[in-house]
Amino acid sequence: MLIDSHAHLEMPEFKKDLDGVIQRAKESGVNTIFTVGTERKDWKRALEIAHLHPSVYAILGVHPHNAKEIDDQTYPILRKLCRDEKVKAYGEIGLDFFRNLSPRDVQLKRFREQIGVAKELNLPIVVHDREAHQATMEVLKSEKAEEYGGIIHCFSGNYEMAKECIEMGFYISVPGTITFRNAERFQEIVKKLPLESLLVETDAPFLTPFPFRGKRNEPSYVKYTAQKVAEIKKAPFEKVAEMTTENALQVYRLKSG
Ligand SMILES: [Zn+2]
Ligand SMILES: [Zn+2]
Repeated sequence: MLIDSHAHLEMPEFKKDLDGVIQRAKESGVNTIFTVGTERKDWKRALEIAHLHPSVYAILGVHPHNAKEIDDQTYPILRKLCRDEKVKAYGEIGLDFFRNLSPRDVQLKRFREQIGVAKELNLPIVVHDREAHQATMEVLKSEKAEEYGGIIHCFSGNYEMAKECIEMGFYISVPGTITFRNAERFQEIVKKLPLESLLVETDAPFLTPFPFRGKRNEPSYVKYTAQKVAEIKKAPFEKVAEMTTENALQVYRLKSG
């Protein structure tokens, strides 16, 4: 069994064959998927998918790309939607200084603000950090990240940053890019990190792992990422599947009993 800890099933890329995508995931042993609604137009659809499919849960928030779209309607809507029992985390929130689709000062302000909303809702946060490692760490520290925890998704920082995040109670989520030929640096980092702190994700429809690189990504492909993690860590695949599943259940608070 595997969990895809981060996908975007509400995106138009899945409009035509969503049932098939979820079915193929199940056939590959991926029986739980977390779908992330990143902007207002996607939240309801993400929730709807989660309600239609018992194996799908939702994560809602405003992506740093969309930070400039936040207005006085945004948080009241999110507060309401996030009380739904199928919402298991708040996100993805953070900083994207690579594409800079929202001005940096706006991203920073909204990142801090949304951490506050997540705290209020008592939800773990899913953090997006692209080319903004130092600023991300500064915000997480000054907002006392260790009090709520969560996930650094599509981790792209260095080993020291990963260690610091783990110490603050965060999990490190590994995307399909780990399977790429030029990913030695990232592979070395993952090799050194404890399995107890790792999740696997697709970020589908993006970041498709080898051998499907260039095609649309989908949750069933998370197995290639888990296989690569097993290979790097010289651990049995079953162990990686079991631990990353356990970790996801833990951070998203899905453990029963
Ligand atoms: Zn992201
Ligand atoms: Zn994402």
